Amino acid sequence: MKKLLECIKNCKKCNLYKTRILPTIYCGNLKSKIFFIGEAPGKNEDETGVPFCGRAGKILDELLESVNLKREEMYITNIVKCRPPKNRDPKDSEINKCKNYLEKQIELIKPKVICPLGRFSSKYILKKYIGKIFEIGEVHGKVFKVNDITIIPMYHPAAAIYDNKKISILKKDFKEIINNLL
Ligand code: URA
Ligand code: SF4
Repeated sequence: MKKLLECIKNCKKCNLYKTRILPTIYCGNLKSKIFFIGEAPGKNEDETGVPFCGRAGKILDELLESVNLKREEMYITNIVKCRPPKNRDPKDSEINKCKNYLEKQIELIKPKVICPLGRFSSKYILKKYIGKIFEIGEVHGKVFKVNDITIIPMYHPAAAIYDNKKISILKKDFKEIINNLL
């Protein structure tokens, strides 16, 4: 894990290193059974190095609280570790260059439940584990079991900032995490 942190801190594999302040590597608990994968750092995350510490993070906290989970007990990371300029979407090339870090994180944490948040991490995780690409609108809250891992894709918490209906969908989908923990 230490080696991985050093690699990410010094990484220059894609151009995002040029404009980032800090990479966001992870926050939470290395022993967590639940592994969240966001999209990419925003402004607050870039300044602190902590994933989901801004507005989307407040919504994530609300969602965790709604199912009695504590953020400190989760493992939270992003598919792309450095902030894309002006919060643009991450490019496929950036995801491809960064994905090995995520793979290594999954290997080290060995989570029981993986929750990709939003379309980029959902697309990547479902392609990798299920071998198919799905639209997030059709698979959010669905439970996929692959070997010992349960995958539950979710809408990105930031989707609830401008769309009131999304928060209740997300809360309902978050209940699946609890249903699949045992
Ligand atoms: N959105 C993300 O996808 N990740 C963060 O860390 C913050 C906002
Ligand atoms: Fe390296 Fe990932 Fe940052 Fe690109 S986004 S520089 S691949 S850590």
